[in-house]
Order: sequence, then structure tokens, then C-alpha cells
Amino acid sequence: GMSCGVVGLPNVGKSTLFNAITQAGAESANYPFCTIDPNVGVVEVPDERLVRLTELVKPNKVVPTAFEFVDIAGLVKGASRGEGLGNKFLANIREVDAIAHVVRCFVDENITHVSGSVDPVRDIETINLELILADLESVEKRIERVKKSLKSGDKKVKAEHDLLVRVQEVLEQEKPARSLEVEEEEAKLLKEFHLLTQKPVLYVANVSEDEITDVEGNEYVKRVKEFAAQEGSGVVVISAKVESEIAELDGEDKEMFLQELGIEESGLDQLIREAYKLLGLYTYFTAGVQEVRAWTIKKGMKAPQAAGVIHTDFERGFIRAEVVHYDDLSETGSMNAAKEKGLLRLEGKDYVVKDGDVMHFRFNV
Ligand code: GDP
Repeated sequence: GMSCGVVGLPNVGKSTLFNAITQAGAESANYPFCTIDPNVGVVEVPDERLVRLTELVKPNKVVPTAFEFVDIAGLVKGASRGEGLGNKFLANIREVDAIAHVVRCFVDENITHVSGSVDPVRDIETINLELILADLESVEKRIERVKKSLKSGDKKVKAEHDLLVRVQEVLEQEKPARSLEVEEEEAKLLKEFHLLTQKPVLYVANVSEDEITDVEGNEYVKRVKEFAAQEGSGVVVISAKVESEIAELDGEDKEMFLQELGIEESGLDQLIREAYKLLGLYTYFTAGVQEVRAWTIKKGMKAPQAAGVIHTDFERGFIRAEVVHYDDLSETGSMNAAKEKGLLRLEGKDYVVKDGDVMHFRFNV
């Protein structure tokens, strides 16, 4: 599955947030097998459409799709030079698909800030610089290697070399690789470099509990938003402390608590949704009387690949899929009604699955 790594300087609220994530995960009955690794938190992806599908199909069981957060502790200044848990930290980041970067936007005299004062943009730059330096090292190594085959006159080698040099220039300006503007072909090539600063980032501004309903008033959040905008990254504002309280609650209690706080959606749910979006993920559904279930796929996946998310046999033996879009099903009120209106389609192996498709696969075993 896809995963999002949680990073940040010490004392910014990472553990508090991560505890909320694992707590929320532990409350979920559907993914009990996911609690083995303490550094991995599995959360259910909130989706209103599941509520409606449950109403329509009345299944025995409902299973939301899941999403993984990985706690990546141990970043200190100098990590790229191998200080502290530096190397381990960088290796762990390499494995995730996206980064949730927690920054401190709350003031609390009692909680030491590693750099002496609250300044989220400085904190962001501290971490980003370590990642940039690590990338610079791998890009330089790669340039050395590619240079040796340049003489061959191979166009591909030349293209790789030129792109590497452009990335190097960006990194030398202390900017992340993701800030480089590239064509589609180059984007594919860039991915192969597996750079840390190429991964999409979501900044998580951690504000104090009494500021959660008045985020506009927080000057630090404003600065984080400005910073994120200029590099094209996203921002989610949360109070880690509040999230850890919310995570203890379930269903109605949670709703009531959110109402008391005057917020519609928990910060964690927002974070999950934004991370999902950031990664270009889609959800499709299977809806039978036994089970209504949401599945995660990558944007652009074709029907057999999407079926493969359920089981590899489904992909291998794929024949075709019966598809009705959630919107059509919701509007007509039943499979049969959708079918009568011609909204239930048969699709083959080249069908590109849409977000919200309700699918039934036919396959050979
Ligand atoms: P980490 O080192 O980044 O994992 O930070 P922790 O999650 O351990 O938090 C450091 C300290 O900040 C702890 O004492 C938390 O209780 C406190 N803290 C975290 N979030 C908030 C917050 O929103 N408001 C306040 N006042 N304290 C917080």
C-alpha cells in the first residue's frame, strides 16, 4: 500500500500526533493485523459514500479502505552527514511515498524548542536542508556514473545527464527537487532517481488547543502557508493535543466532542484526506450483501490492475467488469434501477477506473 512518513524536529508534537494515529487505528475493527509494527499506524480513510452505499445495499459488513502513516523519528541537524540517527532516518524516508512534516505553531513556555524559539519556517528549512544535502550527494554520485557513458552518444544517457545537472542546480540553491519544473517524460525519469525532496509534502501546522477554531489569528500558520504555497505543497492545521483526545472517542462521542469544539472534521481525518489526495489516490467500491468495501488505487489504473488490489488472481484471470458510478447508483437508488437506465456498463481490460466507481469483476480462476 501507499504510505506517508511523519517527520519533524523534536518537541513539535510528532509523537502526540502519531499516538492519535495509532489510537484511531486501534479503534478500527477491520485492520487488527496492522498493529504489529509500532512505527506504523494504519487508519481508515473516512468516506461519506460508504454511508450511502450501506443504506442502499444493507450489507453484513462495511470495510473502509486504509492508509498507512510511518513514524520517522530521529532527525537532527547534520543528519545528512550521518549525525544522530541520520542515516537510518534518511533510509526510512526513502521508503515512503509522501511526507507529512509536522511543525510547531504553538507557544508554550514549558516546552523547550530545540532551536530556542518558535519559528516554523526556520524549522521547515532545517529539515529540508538535510534532505536536500542527502539528495545532492546522490545526484552527484549519479552524475559521475552517467558521465562515463556519455561518450557512447546514447540519447537516453544524454537526457539523464542533462536532467541530473538541472536537479543539481536546484539543490545547490537549497531548493527541493520537487520545485524543478519538468516535462512529462522528464518527470518519469526524475522518479527513477528516488530523491527525498521529490516526494510530495504536506506541512502539518500544530497549533495549541485553544487556537484550533481561530486558525486565522495564528501568525505562524500564516507563514507556513506562504512557504508551502511557493513550493506547491499543502498545509493541514491541527492541534495534536486535541487529536489525541479525539482519537480516544468513537462514533457519537466523537461527533459530540467535535461539535463542542466547533469543528466539522477532526484534524486527523483532514490529514488522511489530504495525504490521499496528495498521492493521487482514488477509491473504488465493491458492493455486495456480504460486504461493502472501499479499495485504494492509483489514479490512471486500469480495471485489471484495480482488481489486482483485491487479489492477484483477479488481475491474472480478469475477463471484464460491471461498473456503475457511485453518483449514478446513489441517484437511482439500486443496482437494478441503474441497470434499467443503462447506467450499468460492461468494461474491458483497457478501462481506466474512476474515483467512485462501484465495480463487480468477472474473472477466470
Ligand atoms: P515530538 O518530540 O515532536 O514527538 O513531540 P511530542 O509529541 O512529544 O510533544 C512535545 C511536547 O509538546 C509534549 O509535552 C506535548 O504534550 C506538547 N504538545 C504537543 N502538541 C501540543 C499542543 O498542541 N499544545 C501544547 N500546549 N503542547 C503540545
